[in-house]
Amino acid sequence: AWNFSAGPATLPEPVLRRAQSEMLEWRDAGASIVEISHRGPEFMEVAAAAESALRKLLSIPDDYAVLFTQGGATTQQALIPLNFAAPGQPADYVISGHWGKTAMKQAAPYVATHVAASSEADRYRTIPARDTWQLASDAAYVHITANETIHGSEFRDIPDVGDVPLVADFSSSIASEPLDVSKFGILYAGAQKNLGPVGISVVIVRRDLLERDGQPRADIFDYRSQLKAESMLNTPPTWNWYMLGLTVQWMLDEGGVEEFAKRNARKAALLYGAIDDSGGFYRNDIDPAVRSRMNVPFFLHDEALEKAFLSESKAAGLIALKGHRVVGGMRASIYNAMPEEGVQALVAFMDDFRKRHG
Ligand code: PLP
Repeated sequence: AWNFSAGPATLPEPVLRRAQSEMLEWRDAGASIVEISHRGPEFMEVAAAAESALRKLLSIPDDYAVLFTQGGATTQQALIPLNFAAPGQPADYVISGHWGKTAMKQAAPYVATHVAASSEADRYRTIPARDTWQLASDAAYVHITANETIHGSEFRDIPDVGDVPLVADFSSSIASEPLDVSKFGILYAGAQKNLGPVGISVVIVRRDLLERDGQPRADIFDYRSQLKAESMLNTPPTWNWYMLGLTVQWMLDEGGVEEFAKRNARKAALLYGAIDDSGGFYRNDIDPAVRSRMNVPFFLHDEALEKAFLSESKAAGLIALKGHRVVGGMRASIYNAMPEEGVQALVAFMDDFRKRHG
């Protein structure tokens, strides 16, 4: 079956197969990968290899630290103000969908959250143009959601916010194309779309920002302490870290982000083409200039057909196409691990369904 789930991720088959064997016995350690000590040399090597592969994949400059943390992206949304903003300091949020709103909600207890721009009134069909943003003076940072997983929009250009650090939630589009990390203060992502299974997140932070005092917080919530402890202040999610390393290495072996950018552009063009050329049978409402290449929500012209679409697509081996409850309709998530054949199969099904029900 082709899995179009928005997350937890679809993982590439070679990664799953390799993990299957190493789950039983990790090299000659006499134990599974999930049983070896996180402080032992074997796992330290796994952790270091994952970081260096990620640095290579994303061309992360040396003046950026990489943290591997627990708690998902949502926890980072609360930790970012705790680590990088003074109590009550303003922080700008650009809201282009559900996850931007979530980020602001998590930060609200710690900073004076300020909506610099929002496309809510437009039902998030657009991303507010940079020249409409009203940035607070003295803001600790400007937060954006690079790809809105539920609403299906994506920043196609990195906005210029001057000297204020740009913080971006890349949970659902990290590693989908080349990216200039140096344009950001902080990038973060839950792993469970393009980087591996759920249970670990990546925080990429410009090192000078770690010198900020932030706010009183426990050591475990302190990025500086985590960095000092090599992301092992407490027991890290070793299996997830290992899986992330395998997934990142797989992306490098496949040709890196340049190759995935091409594949993702072709997949998205094929699927949006099938929607746009359906004579109104299918519809996607997002401004074409900011349509997501990862998450494609779409509607059938007649809601009454949705049930048949879902059951017939499932029977055809195309699973998890039901849209998020916030938006309704259908959604096809086509992350890096989704091969082009999967999207071709979906488009063929959509054409056939339209002919039979149109
Ligand atoms: N941000 C984005 C863009 C997401 O897509 C998600 C989850 O799908 C989250 C944040 C929340 O991530 P987590 O469940 O890892 O906290």
